[in-house]
Amino acid sequence: MNVVKTHMLDSSYRCDSCSAQAFMMFALTPTERVPDGELFFCRHHGMKHRAALEPLTEFMADETDRLHAAIIDDKHVN
Ligand SMILES: [Zn+2]
Repeated sequence: MNVVKTHMLDSSYRCDSCSAQAFMMFALTPTERVPDGELFFCRHHGMKHRAALEPLTEFMADETDRLHAAIIDDKHVN
Protein backbone atom coordinates (compact mmCIF):
# COMPACT_ATOMS: atom_id res chain seq x y z
CA MET A 1 0.00 0.00 0.00
CA ASN A 2 1.32 3.41 -0.95
CA VAL A 3 1.21 6.14 1.62
CA VAL A 4 1.00 9.58 0.10
CA LYS A 5 1.45 12.94 1.73
CA THR A 6 -1.41 15.21 0.76
CA HIS A 7 -3.01 18.42 1.88
CA MET A 8 -6.55 17.56 0.86
CA LEU A 9 -8.04 16.95 4.28
CA ASP A 10 -9.45 20.04 5.91
CA SER A 11 -11.76 20.28 8.88
CA SER A 12 -14.80 19.41 6.72
CA TYR A 13 -13.51 15.81 6.50
CA ARG A 14 -14.69 13.85 9.51
CA CYS A 15 -13.81 10.42 10.85
CA ASP A 16 -16.26 7.74 9.65
CA SER A 17 -16.17 6.19 13.12
CA CYS A 18 -16.33 9.06 15.59
CA SER A 19 -16.79 12.31 13.60
CA ALA A 20 -13.53 13.81 14.83
CA GLN A 21 -11.50 15.59 12.18
CA ALA A 22 -10.09 13.11 9.67
CA PHE A 23 -6.35 12.98 9.11
CA MET A 24 -6.18 9.68 7.22
CA MET A 25 -7.92 8.67 4.01
CA PHE A 26 -7.96 5.14 2.65
CA ALA A 27 -8.68 4.91 -1.08
CA LEU A 28 -10.02 1.40 -1.52
CA THR A 29 -9.02 -0.63 -4.54
CA PRO A 30 -12.06 -0.47 -6.87
CA THR A 31 -14.22 -3.59 -6.90
CA GLU A 32 -17.54 -4.34 -8.60
CA ARG A 33 -19.31 -3.88 -5.30
CA VAL A 34 -17.52 -0.67 -4.32
CA PRO A 35 -16.35 1.14 -7.48
CA ASP A 36 -14.76 4.04 -5.68
CA GLY A 37 -14.68 3.79 -1.95
CA GLU A 38 -12.94 6.25 0.29
CA LEU A 39 -12.78 5.94 4.04
CA PHE A 40 -11.85 8.79 6.30
CA PHE A 41 -10.53 8.36 9.80
CA CYS A 42 -9.07 10.34 12.64
CA ARG A 43 -5.62 9.26 13.71
CA HIS A 44 -6.99 6.99 16.44
CA HIS A 45 -9.37 5.06 14.19
CA GLY A 46 -7.01 5.17 11.21
CA MET A 47 -4.35 3.40 13.24
CA LYS A 48 -6.93 0.98 14.61
CA HIS A 49 -8.25 -0.06 11.18
CA ARG A 50 -5.07 0.29 9.19
CA ALA A 51 -3.94 -3.33 9.33
CA ALA A 52 -7.39 -4.61 8.32
CA LEU A 53 -7.77 -2.10 5.49
CA GLU A 54 -4.26 -2.41 4.12
CA PRO A 55 -5.03 -5.35 1.76
CA LEU A 56 -8.09 -3.52 0.38
CA THR A 57 -6.48 -0.14 -0.06
CA GLU A 58 -4.88 1.26 -3.16
CA PHE A 59 -3.30 4.17 -1.39
CA MET A 60 -3.59 5.98 1.85
CA ALA A 61 -3.31 9.66 2.58
CA ASP A 62 -1.62 10.31 5.88
CA GLU A 63 -1.81 13.82 7.24
CA THR A 64 -1.30 12.92 10.86
CA ASP A 65 1.86 15.02 10.89
CA ARG A 66 -0.47 18.04 10.73
CA LEU A 67 -2.27 16.93 13.87
CA HIS A 68 -0.16 18.90 16.30
CA ALA A 69 -0.59 22.10 14.31
CA ALA A 70 -4.34 21.49 13.97
CA ILE A 71 -4.79 21.05 17.70
CA ILE A 72 -3.10 24.38 18.25
CA ASP A 73 -5.38 25.92 15.58
CA ASP A 74 -8.48 24.49 17.23
CA LYS A 75 -7.50 25.92 20.58
CA HIS A 76 -6.91 29.24 18.94
CA VAL A 77 -10.32 29.25 17.22
CA ASN A 78 -12.22 28.08 20.28
ZN1 LIG B 1 -12.28 8.46 14.87
